[in-house]
Amino acid sequence: MSAVPPGAIALRMDDVGAASKRHEVYGLTRLRVAGLSLPFPGNVLFLKYLPPIKRWGPYHELAAAELEALLERLARAGARLTVAITAGWVEDGGSITPYPAKFPAASCIVPQGMDRGLLEVANHGYTHCVLANDRFLPRLFSGNRAEHREFYDWLPEPVHREHLRRAQGILQDFLGSAVETLVPPGNVLSRKTLAAAAEVGLRIVSCRGASAWGPVHGLTFLDDARVIAFHDRDLVLGGVAWLDGLLAATPPGGYVTVREAAA
Ligand SMILES: [Zn+2]
Repeated sequence: MSAVPPGAIALRMDDVGAASKRHEVYGLTRLRVAGLSLPFPGNVLFLKYLPPIKRWGPYHELAAAELEALLERLARAGARLTVAITAGWVEDGGSITPYPAKFPAASCIVPQGMDRGLLEVANHGYTHCVLANDRFLPRLFSGNRAEHREFYDWLPEPVHREHLRRAQGILQDFLGSAVETLVPPGNVLSRKTLAAAAEVGLRIVSCRGASAWGPVHGLTFLDDARVIAFHDRDLVLGGVAWLDGLLAATPPGGYVTVREAAA
């Protein structure tokens, strides 16, 4: 692995394994017409599923071939990437399937990328959403974006700890190595999340506004100013070639992982 230049920029892809790509459905609620912003019922019934009204999901999980193509592009550009994985897939009924069991073929590409020195895996939560009372499910007449955040301060402290502990367990058992970076879904976190993170062995927090949470003993905070963050959705919608735009602007020394940038 080459030396990491000071101030190096990390590349980070979020939402691999996150069922929010299936359940997080909301539509445009304002339309710009002749310079005016007009209300639009984009969340009513099927409207929120129709492009260009549709704003987020549903979209498909990256397949093994797409992840392999991603690794090839990284290798060619001399770039490394942090993949922020949501460790549990939330099924329609609210049960959880671990990422490696839900996507056996695709998930196997991840450790291959680590072996090749191209990937770091980060913890992007256990569910990416609020599980209680089926709040994550799409609704008939409104969007559900707010439910697709996992670590709200109003959630009890054991929820923060249990979700982080379970996600660490799934990812570390699967990879056979330590996961050290937390990427809180949707940049939402609380003091409860940070205490739990340190407890389960996480030591880096990467999100927008991260440094405002520090200092906290045992944790390093990496702001999004040092990170180019995107979503698996960008690759699904734009094709893996979408990445070429970012890679063409590779900084001197190349893109690094979040863990390297935080070192
Ligand atoms: Zn996310």
